[in-house]
Amino acid sequence: MLLLYTMKSRKFARRMKYVTMSDVSELLKWMTPDMISFGGGIPDPITFPDEADFNEMLTFLKGVKDKAFQYGKTEGLDELRVSLSKFSQKHSIVTDPENIIITTGSQQVLDLTAKIFINKNDFVAVELPTYMVALQVFNMFKPKYIGIPLDFEGMRTDILEEKLRKLYSDGVSLKLLYTMPTSQNPAGISMSIERRKHLLELASKYDFIILEDDPYGYITFEGDEPIRLKSMDKEGRVIYTSTFSKILGPGLRIGWIIAEENIIKQYVRIKQITDICTSPLTQYIAYYTLENGIVDKKIPIIKRFYREKRDAMLNALEKYMSNSATWSKPIGGLFIFVWLNNNIDTRAILPDVIKKYKVAYLPGDSFYVIDVRNTMRLNFSYPSINQIEEGIKRLSMAIMSYSAQEQVVN
Ligand SMILES: *Cc1c(COP(=O)(O)O)cnc(C)c1O
Repeated sequence: MLLLYTMKSRKFARRMKYVTMSDVSELLKWMTPDMISFGGGIPDPITFPDEADFNEMLTFLKGVKDKAFQYGKTEGLDELRVSLSKFSQKHSIVTDPENIIITTGSQQVLDLTAKIFINKNDFVAVELPTYMVALQVFNMFKPKYIGIPLDFEGMRTDILEEKLRKLYSDGVSLKLLYTMPTSQNPAGISMSIERRKHLLELASKYDFIILEDDPYGYITFEGDEPIRLKSMDKEGRVIYTSTFSKILGPGLRIGWIIAEENIIKQYVRIKQITDICTSPLTQYIAYYTLENGIVDKKIPIIKRFYREKRDAMLNALEKYMSNSATWSKPIGGLFIFVWLNNNIDTRAILPDVIKKYKVAYLPGDSFYVIDVRNTMRLNFSYPSINQIEEGIKRLSMAIMSYSAQEQVVN
């Protein structure tokens, strides 16, 4: 291609400096067929609609084509908002359709939330570790982060309380707290009910807003679904978001928000100038799958399927890595997080691990707002059960060899 004009980097807005690329796309470049990757974050195609459901769905879409191919309301299709309010009710959140808006995935909710709430130097609290992509979005608006550690009962709300006390005695306040209470990404950890209650008490006492990101609450593997923060929220402080990405397919790009009316209004204002509306065509597909029981039919299948894969990975970790690491035991979601016993820099060794051992993971450091190097995120939703067993074996060999080197160095 002939370049008539080469853009000088000084032409780009300053905020572009704060936009970092995802590790995942870097990883994909190194993929070879004999490699086992735990690096991705994508659902298994088993979650997608079955072929048998397609013909009727297409007939339905033909019937609504004049609306499906037209611009829609910024809030989203009324039909879909009504079905989502019914769906939410079955999953413990009671809401009017007016309190729901449809978004272009939960990713858009992160973007819009940052635009609505975050001024430069505002304090934003996140989990340690938290969803890397949320940090990437928030970073553009230059907040100050407060990292709250997790243990196996989720966010340490006692530490949050301490930090809040200190902040407020310094005369500053927390604006927003971002949390994934159930099977959070990357650590797969869920917050206990006591901690959930405590968090809401703190939000009330210290007057901050909570963004509850819940892509995995509908696909938990054991027991009842944990109660959502939104369903315990008496003051309208919780902005809830979920998505069709993990219960049907990320290609739809359909997510939703549940929030109080005055908050919803702000989202509608900002969404209108961002993308006018989410595709009515895919909203109709989402609507059809909800109304015709396709999502309800899929959920138990997804749960069973992922539970098997999770168990395979937990068993393999137990078998091969119990001397070199500890890991989360997720009740849902797509990931297990691993903390290595030795102080190995998982990012530094990754290219070598891929080359020599033909296995990949996502280094954990990009999920932290502090410096932590000896962690990794492992995805179990996409690889097969055989690949999981073989991949963990390879990973354990890699870690063993680097642990030996580490000991020599020390
Ligand atoms: C997968 C995931 C999402 C989904 O994003 P979409 O834009 O709806 O595809 C949101 N948040 C977290 C933490 C996720 O893991």
